[in-house]
Amino acid sequence: MNKFYITTPIFYLNGSPHIGHAYTTVAADVLARFQRQNKQEVFFLTGTDEHGAKIAKSAQKANMEVHKFCDKNAQAFLKLWEGLGISYDDFLRTSEPRHEEAVKEFLNQLKSAKTPKNRPALYEDEYSGLYCEGCEAYKTESDIENGLCPEHKIKPITLKERNWFFRLLDFEESLKKQIGLKKMKIMPEGRQKEVAGFIKHGLTDIAISRANVPWGIKVPFDESQTVYVWVDALINYLSALGWPKSKKFEKFWPADLHLIGKDILKFHAVIWPALLMALKIELPKSIFAHGYFTVGDEKMSKSVGNVISPEHLIKQFGADATRYLLLSLYPFGQDGDITIEKINLKYKSALANGLGNLVSRVLNLVETEFEGVIPVAVPSPRNLKNRNKLLENEEIYEAIGEIEDAVAFANQYIEKNKLWQIVKTKKEEAGIILSGLCALICEIAKYIDPIMPNISKDITDRLSAKKITKGEPLFPIV
Ligand SMILES: [Zn+2]
Repeated sequence: MNKFYITTPIFYLNGSPHIGHAYTTVAADVLARFQRQNKQEVFFLTGTDEHGAKIAKSAQKANMEVHKFCDKNAQAFLKLWEGLGISYDDFLRTSEPRHEEAVKEFLNQLKSAKTPKNRPALYEDEYSGLYCEGCEAYKTESDIENGLCPEHKIKPITLKERNWFFRLLDFEESLKKQIGLKKMKIMPEGRQKEVAGFIKHGLTDIAISRANVPWGIKVPFDESQTVYVWVDALINYLSALGWPKSKKFEKFWPADLHLIGKDILKFHAVIWPALLMALKIELPKSIFAHGYFTVGDEKMSKSVGNVISPEHLIKQFGADATRYLLLSLYPFGQDGDITIEKINLKYKSALANGLGNLVSRVLNLVETEFEGVIPVAVPSPRNLKNRNKLLENEEIYEAIGEIEDAVAFANQYIEKNKLWQIVKTKKEEAGIILSGLCALICEIAKYIDPIMPNISKDITDRLSAKKITKGEPLFPIV
């Protein structure tokens, strides 16, 4: 059976969604739509990560009850996904009962599971360490710069408490083997080495529970503890399918692709597979970690004043163009720099003057010179089949490049043949060229569908009208 299970990370509900969340989710949506176009049965999961001390604190700060606080923030994500046309199949919130049940089941199974060295997977221990409340994670001395967490610029606190530990160290050989065999593909190039590095140098047993965190899921066999938020969150990929027993789980697991940001690679490529191995659950087939962007070579932040909001982009360019622009600025998987100027420029060159102009001038000639009917059936003068291979490998930026090349080719073709002149003198010849261009536009429309579904439909509708008209500009310049 052809199925494709794709996930985004579940997003931490501590604030409103920003452009980084939009970037990951739009990319996942493009890949999901592409797989559906290829007749795969797709399950596309996204959602929100709602537990933990940090969220409880933020709710308190906002003077709101924690459930209400999460409801409000989850709504903001749902609204943005609607604005961007995200075609998710399920939106899972970790505060939902269905998730809590699965997490408790997972913990219970883990309690009786054995490691590859035939020792219990869990043990109790006292732990003392430096803990960053921003990261909700323990830090080693080497993680800390000038006494502060480099990510949050706050001083880690010393925590000493009794916790449940997972014997991650016992999984070292199994993890190495899995990654060596590429059973679980880690992409793009280079990330696999990074993961091998973690395993070689950084493996320690990990605390999977916390004491004194009231906003979380209780450890079923020790109610004084709550499940560590990261373990809680990772299990969403199973709970959304109704694990341990459901038709959906049997059909869609293992995940075909976990799409993540590069900062959470270790959780997904080391801890998650080890937890799954402990329970003898099949590993995900692949993990793709994308890069981050800076804005004008600086980290995006309110204090620098360089925040680009996804809502603003949608308002200015529309949902489809926003999707296109986000993914066309630098290769997927790498880091890149964006600015509003670059986005504006790309909109003008690739969309308004590129694709928009091509459709407008071709349909205009069909309307005015051929009474709105495409003259003869001829094949497109260029083939775009390479796009499929690119999208199968998550090469979204390169696939967009392929489309832009075809648009540029068609626009040059019109210039070179001086189509607007020969349509007056050699009408038959012009008709053939024009028909080929219409076929190419039709193919482009099909290929941009996962990226710009509404624009794709608009172009197809215009081309299949009984009487073709030029119509309104696809990408107006405002
Ligand atoms: Zn931190």
